[in-house]
Amino acid sequence: MNLIRLLIVFFSINVYCGGDEVGNGGGLAENNVVFAYKNIESTIKFTLNNKKDKLTVKQQEVLNLILNSLPQEYFPRNRNQNRFQLEFKSNDFFPHNRFAFTYNFIGAPIYINKDYLYYSSQGKVVPMSIFQATSMLVHEFGHHHKIENENWLDNLGVLVAQSFYQNEQVKRLPWHTNIQSRMIKFNSPETQETFDLLMLTDGLVYINYSKLIKESFKCQGNRVLKGISLYQDYWSVERPFYYQVDLALHCMNLNNEELEIQIGSALQIIPDLVYDRDGVKRFQHINYRVITCEQFPSRCQQKRIEYFNQMSNRSLQ
Ligand SMILES: [Zn+2]
Repeated sequence: MNLIRLLIVFFSINVYCGGDEVGNGGGLAENNVVFAYKNIESTIKFTLNNKKDKLTVKQQEVLNLILNSLPQEYFPRNRNQNRFQLEFKSNDFFPHNRFAFTYNFIGAPIYINKDYLYYSSQGKVVPMSIFQATSMLVHEFGHHHKIENENWLDNLGVLVAQSFYQNEQVKRLPWHTNIQSRMIKFNSPETQETFDLLMLTDGLVYINYSKLIKESFKCQGNRVLKGISLYQDYWSVERPFYYQVDLALHCMNLNNEELEIQIGSALQIIPDLVYDRDGVKRFQHINYRVITCEQFPSRCQQKRIEYFNQMSNRSLQ
């Protein structure tokens, strides 16, 4: 371990506060809604390209309408260019305790009910997930195209969210359960050019590692990186605490156009925690470390065996 530590090059990443783009919020649920909002274009595109057989003609038509009007949704001519058309309001703003509200024209703001962003389940406060936020936003965007049938829109929203997101896995740091990793896996076969997403939060600050992951790993042997799936993660509770995620790189051999899965790379994230005024541990500074097969060939060999065992067990079930 000491030798490995000596070899490690530590990188730093700046902690930034989430939620600022909408001016209010900043909690996990608000961030999930903003995240879903920003990604709605790729979410709908993915659904239309890959799940067409699951959609009726009418559903495809409405999704295409939403997709084509997104530039005007994001930047309507009469509004400030940098302003999001998404606003969080408290319950008294909404008619009939609604979850969200909008008008029936393109570019109308979408109002989200702040009082419904969190709910309690088994004694824990659960924030609205990216999956739920995506369904909700597709529903609201559907209203902009004069669709009024609530159930029809609910169904469309869920279809889109389901086709895109396979699941969201949350892992909490024991004893400091506000410190969480959130892995968002895409519902795509390994041949798809998709990159799973990774986020870390301390309950206030929200850090997206997706771009870093995309840019930090390369395929071996002249192959081209087409996608990355995150397949295994954990928190190490020995000090210093760290979070580690193992990656499967989807690499394309350009000669024969064959895809190969390369196993063994990992990302390790080492947050420095401090107590804030509420007596809760929060991020102060975060280091990370990129683990590659070039650096640790024997680790990669071991991980390959584990991965393929895991995959074959899964397909037997
Ligand atoms: Zn509605």
